[in-house]
Amino acid sequence: MDLLPCQEDAGLRSLRAEVLQCVPAGDGFDSVLSRTPMYPEGGGQPSDTGTVGGAPVLSLRRREDGAVIHHLPAPVSGTVDVEVDWERRYDLMQQHTAQHLLTATILERTGWRTIAFHLGPDRSDVELDVPALADTDLGAIEAEVNVRIREAHPVRVRVTDREHMADLGVRSRRLPEGLTGPLRLIEIEGIDLNPCGGLHVANTAELQALKLLGTERISRGTRLFFIAGGRVLRDLDRALERDRTLTRVLTCGTDEHLPAIERLVAERRTTDKALKELRGERAAAIGRDLARTGDPAVAFHSPEADMETLHAVAKAAREARPDVLVLATGGDLDGVFLVAGPEERVAAAGPEVARILEGRGGGRGGTFQGKASRLDRRADAAILLGVVQRVP
Ligand SMILES: [Zn+2]
Repeated sequence: MDLLPCQEDAGLRSLRAEVLQCVPAGDGFDSVLSRTPMYPEGGGQPSDTGTVGGAPVLSLRRREDGAVIHHLPAPVSGTVDVEVDWERRYDLMQQHTAQHLLTATILERTGWRTIAFHLGPDRSDVELDVPALADTDLGAIEAEVNVRIREAHPVRVRVTDREHMADLGVRSRRLPEGLTGPLRLIEIEGIDLNPCGGLHVANTAELQALKLLGTERISRGTRLFFIAGGRVLRDLDRALERDRTLTRVLTCGTDEHLPAIERLVAERRTTDKALKELRGERAAAIGRDLARTGDPAVAFHSPEADMETLHAVAKAAREARPDVLVLATGGDLDGVFLVAGPEERVAAAGPEVARILEGRGGGRGGTFQGKASRLDRRADAAILLGVVQRVP
């Protein structure tokens, strides 16, 4: 398969071309042009985006005969200008070239092989055939890659045939099945030579910087995440923006952010504990007050009460008077309910209460609890249990 214009010159941003073919296909039109600056997906690098005659390219693919199919929302004809979304493409070229340099540097320093590569929209990764990487190794690798970026090594395309590949000291001998024709090699001068069909910057200096972001254990080794080029500055911008926001919200300088957050977390823990104790005490006081009425059955409801509160109310009431039957509910229309009291009475009344409140529940040993969807009928349930309706 012949090399595409962008594989000859990755700096090509636009071309004027003739439309050779344009036919309806799926939700749009498939068109073939006399030439194109666009790169269809391959070698781990995603397809380009851009426009043909001003229309956005929806997708790109390469036909078996090598023709690039541009899928467009509208038909095109005659002479058209084809423009690559250069900002996106250049970013992809930076990440892809950074991967070559990272892979070669890791192999040289440690002997670890890259077994896969993913170029993501926010960060990329290489999969290495080792179970774990030490922080010191990562630091040394990152430093070495950045030295090589500053050394400004030219990155070139070399075309050869398969027979000569072994003589050249090519890093990877693994080639796609059924590949014929000339072999395209990417050389980082003095560092690496590897077959690749993708697009690369012309010099390591164009990578600006590389930052390793961390690792993740995977079944066949370790995934190492990285960013390079414009993404380093973009992520730094995002981090600085977060800093500014934190400075505003916490009303303290950057160095004070962490102690301030630790203080807030500790205070919150103390407050939560105190609040829980107060709620428990309040629920117990309500339970004792209900028992003190002397009624054989009593009811409690609060829109805010959770199941824990209902249990605290019932427990306090029954400690004050073991024979009292308690109906406790919490929530608005949807919520929780609890029937607590003498075992036999609860066993009989619990399912009835669940039916009235259109809920589900269960229990044993003097409690029956569950969720309900019609807490507005709690007065009916109270009547069933024999709760005396008190007029305030
Ligand atoms: Zn490549």
